[in-house]
Amino acid sequence: MNAQLLERAIAGISDPDYPAAFDAPLRASFAGGCARRIGYQLRNEPATNPLTHVSILAFNIGSAVHLVVQAALQRLYPDGEAEAEGGLIALGSAICPWDPSDDGGEPTIGCHADFFYGSDALPTVVEIKSMQPYAFNKAKEEGVQEHHLLQAGLAGLALGAEYLELVYVNKSQGQIAVYRFHPSAWRAKATQEAIRLARVYELHTEGELAPPMDPERKVWQCKFCPWLAVCTEAGN
Ligand code: SF4
Repeated sequence: MNAQLLERAIAGISDPDYPAAFDAPLRASFAGGCARRIGYQLRNEPATNPLTHVSILAFNIGSAVHLVVQAALQRLYPDGEAEAEGGLIALGSAICPWDPSDDGGEPTIGCHADFFYGSDALPTVVEIKSMQPYAFNKAKEEGVQEHHLLQAGLAGLALGAEYLELVYVNKSQGQIAVYRFHPSAWRAKATQEAIRLARVYELHTEGELAPPMDPERKVWQCKFCPWLAVCTEAGN
């Protein structure tokens, strides 16, 4: 065996694709994402640019960090819940929390909050993100990444949260930062994002694909997109 052989074997391990909460077509982690990429995912389009062993290792390191932080949160908040599930349903142009006991339809967006606590006082959704030092330090100066806030916000809407907390972990140096958000900072923009995602799903059901996020395909999302080649071939 040599290193290249092992790297290829790691690259062959597919990205663990956890089912969306309640088997909804959309998931909260799509927040802020390219509409065309979401369309490809909904179509089960075969990946033309599969993940490398580097991405798969990074993903699994991130998953391990999640588990440690979730265990620590459970110690701090014994009544809290890791991987709390919630759903959102699109009703016309409105977005509402989905009630599993209600037989009025299936959820459009399934959400797994990394942690949910304070349900009888100040219900709070916690989203954990592990990152490299550069991104961690950048957030300290410029604030959190918008798509992280939107992802947490979708779970917040689904679970009836008041506050959101983003836990950023510098996975190389072990530093932690917690950013807490009042409803005025997230609820309206999360609602808009849920409406956008529901529209992407509607396009999918009509057999259409949204335009690319960047016609030049130079944004970082394109660089790591599993459908870069097919998207480029499809044009704009
Ligand atoms: S290559 Fe870029 S524009 Fe095309 S689907 Fe992927 S992220 Fe979207």
